[in-house]
Amino acid sequence: MTTKIFKRKSGRKPEEMRPISAKVGIIPNADGSAMYQSGETIAIAAVYGPKKMHPQHMQDPGKGVLRCTYSMLSFSVTDRIRPGPNRRSTEISKIIEWAIEPVLMIDKFPNTVIDVHINIIQADAGTRCAAINAAAMALASAGIPMKNMVSSIAAGKLDKTVVLDLDKYEDSEFEEGEGSTDIPMTFTDDGKLTHIQIDGNITKEQLKEAIEMAKKASKKIYEVQKKALKDTGEEK
Ligand code: UDP
Repeated sequence: MTTKIFKRKSGRKPEEMRPISAKVGIIPNADGSAMYQSGETIAIAAVYGPKKMHPQHMQDPGKGVLRCTYSMLSFSVTDRIRPGPNRRSTEISKIIEWAIEPVLMIDKFPNTVIDVHINIIQADAGTRCAAINAAAMALASAGIPMKNMVSSIAAGKLDKTVVLDLDKYEDSEFEEGEGSTDIPMTFTDDGKLTHIQIDGNITKEQLKEAIEMAKKASKKIYEVQKKALKDTGEEK
């Protein structure tokens, strides 16, 4: 239960997410592509494939391979980031694969690879969630069969208050009381969790509250994704 009324620096209510928008078909050369924006965080995703996996020893005769590559562009944050892969981007790339794979009917494409390149062009926290939302839409627009759409959002805690969708200040600089806890999650459109991470401390009760808050928000994200896909006639 939320224990006190908490004033967020952004002026948002505890259960209020940042404004979101989405667009499909932004990169004509890709087999599928999408953009997802949440506040100041913007992710773009491009799908190439399914195509034959090379080298051959990496082929799986039972199913295709989903290969996600997440990267933050150098000028996506105030302190320029060195380009190229690093430990964080390698970890987030794996997480994106794990969050999406459960809904992807990848067994229909044996011996192939589906490449999803996700670039964060502007970052203000929540980039992995924006990346998952953009990647899932890009895959749907590429015509890869999916059992469900997935929608990702973080909930968490600022001092003792459960809140939705932490921004960069709340995620990294907030130091009052117990500090902040960030819990990125991904849900299918029928409410099943495919991904959860917890960075910080939280009680069992508050974790339940955070999950419910994020699940409710994921339905709103799903509506925006669905509309973006419909607008290009590529709804799954
Ligand atoms: N960030 C940054 N430089 C970095 C990595 C992250 O400025 O090298 C910022 C960026 O705004 C990012 C935020 O810190 O969105 C939170 O990063 P985190 O690793 O928690 O992942 P995210 O919340 O973006 O999924």
